[in-house]
Amino acid sequence: MEKDPRKELKVSAIENGTVIDHIPSRSLFQVVRILNLEKYESQILVGMNLDSRKYGRKGILKISNKFFRNDEINKIALAAPTATMIVIRDFQVVEKRAVEIPDEVIKIVKCFNPNCITNHEKITTRFNVINKEELRLQCHYCEKITAKDNMVFI
Ligand code: ZN
Repeated sequence: MEKDPRKELKVSAIENGTVIDHIPSRSLFQVVRILNLEKYESQILVGMNLDSRKYGRKGILKISNKFFRNDEINKIALAAPTATMIVIRDFQVVEKRAVEIPDEVIKIVKCFNPNCITNHEKITTRFNVINKEELRLQCHYCEKITAKDNMVFI
């Protein structure tokens, strides 16, 4: 089967860097925040509400000259579990993989417990992921469980 050259171009439009694809559109700006991209100075291409055969509407980020560590990329899984990371070097895809829920979550999410010290003092939140399928995070400080449904991103 021949590859559609236009499709190739879409993914390879940056020379070097990282493409994060299949982000649910509603989570796109959350992902921007999680990766701290507001402060990034190289070129970033943002696509939102693109058609995706698999997921309906999707978002995509193309970040030039940036290569993330796996743990940075995996944070995205909390907000965008369907996301895939594509590493581009010299216009070529050199790596492509799905994001994975990390073992530990630092910052990013607020503790669900209103009495938790992290909600009253300037302390960075920290959780152990005790269930990756249901996404249940146990607070390092108060030991309460923050679950997917009551997860608030910082
Ligand atoms: Zn807590």
